Amino acid sequence: MCGPVPMPAACPKPARAPLSAAVIGSPEPLCPVCSTARGGRLWKSACSARCRAALSRRRRAEAQSGRDRKVRELLKAALRMVGH
Ligand SMILES: [Zn+2]
Repeated sequence: MCGPVPMPAACPKPARAPLSAAVIGSPEPLCPVCSTARGGRLWKSACSARCRAALSRRRRAEAQSGRDRKVRELLKAALRMVGH
């Protein structure tokens, strides 16, 4: 927790994690689902149809959960405004 403290030194900046050289310098794109080499098929987002389906499912679930959180926050703010 980094609250308003008189000493700025008490709140050190978190060390920035170095970007993984394995990710940047990888000659072969890895499948984001199963982490196997995609074999240079850059036009594909995943190594196989199965992984691609899993990836899109995951993305949809993430988008859905993000939207739910936003709606909940807005709802809470609205209820505060009405005085509940
Ligand atoms: Zn895969």
